[in-house]
Amino acid sequence: MKIPLSRPDITKKERDEVLRVLKTPHLALGPKLAEFEEKFASYIGTKYALAVNSGTSGLHLVIRALGIGRGDEVITTPFSFIASANCILYEGAKPVFTDIDPQTLNIDPNKIEKAITKKTKAILAVDIFGRSVNWTPILKIAKKHNLKVIEDSCEALGAEYKGKKCGTFGQAAVFAFYPNKQITTGEGGMIVTDNKKIIDSCRSMFNQGRQVKNGKWLEHVQLGYNYRMSDVNAALGLAQIRRVKEILGKRAKVAKMYNQELAGIKGLEIFQVDPQSKISWFVYVIKLSQRYSQKDRELIIKNMIRKGIQCANYFKPIHLQPFYRKMFGYKRGNFPLAESVGSRTIALPFYGFLKKSQIKYIATNLKKELKKKVQGIPS
Ligand SMILES: *Cc1c(COP(=O)(O)O)cnc(C)c1O
Repeated sequence: MKIPLSRPDITKKERDEVLRVLKTPHLALGPKLAEFEEKFASYIGTKYALAVNSGTSGLHLVIRALGIGRGDEVITTPFSFIASANCILYEGAKPVFTDIDPQTLNIDPNKIEKAITKKTKAILAVDIFGRSVNWTPILKIAKKHNLKVIEDSCEALGAEYKGKKCGTFGQAAVFAFYPNKQITTGEGGMIVTDNKKIIDSCRSMFNQGRQVKNGKWLEHVQLGYNYRMSDVNAALGLAQIRRVKEILGKRAKVAKMYNQELAGIKGLEIFQVDPQSKISWFVYVIKLSQRYSQKDRELIIKNMIRKGIQCANYFKPIHLQPFYRKMFGYKRGNFPLAESVGSRTIALPFYGFLKKSQIKYIATNLKKELKKKVQGIPS
């Protein structure tokens, strides 16, 4: 049996929608782009949405639109995908990490205020693994210190906090559509906001700095980029967002099957889901208990892959990535909670059409691997 780590959920609806675009001359800046944006904004519940060519470029534009740059600091989490900190570096600002809450895996609101300095401009919080950030205390801190809030919801399409969708909590939020995300456009991302100034600024910058309305094609009013999403990709996204409830529902079912199969296994720690929030399943990540070292974890992953089960070590904390160590002098011990989680997590194969028999096969093999270490040791 060979089970991949993730698979996009593509049906005839997606293929038909993409083919329709290919039969028109509008492969870029056409009607599908606008339609995808509109549908997406209405799903999240924001006034505006702007489709871009990746989640990373979306984050970059938001940082620029908020005027964050050289000399500024942005407080963020070390337990994330690299892009959520890199977007701060692109503009010469400094990502300032604070440690996580090991239960929710998200930035710990209690640690933020200590990290605020005169240079702090914003908090960039990540709804990691489709789990909402604990927004109420963070928004309170941001208000008190007059900080901007950026929401990286790249892993959290459809997740909720106190009945409100992720992507609606900061000045702006960004989603991503790489093929391993809940919905995909191949490559792509989406900026959402209620703020007209932010969306206009992003809409100009994503299109080479052209004026948003009535501009001439070869007139550029500011520094811009080509961060546009093609209509081919937008058509794919449109078909996907129309199916979002079905897609998320299937993923939730698979997560439930995993929960059942893995319940009570010795050697695993279960992540809590904040009772105030609704998870959108992005990955299925397990955490080994303290008795397993990072080396044990790597060996388990290796053995699982040998059995045809693709697994990954989501996430090695950002501050321990080689170029962050070099640039800022970070070392092991700086953010012990993120490090402890990061050295014991394993992402198991996860997508909406994973079968019960496959999950059983994965669980059986995982149990075997865990036992090798547990044998003889009381828990
Ligand atoms: C996927 C992801 C991104 C960036 O998305 P790309 O589309 O790959 O550029 C940013 N932040 C987080 C947390 C992500 O998981």
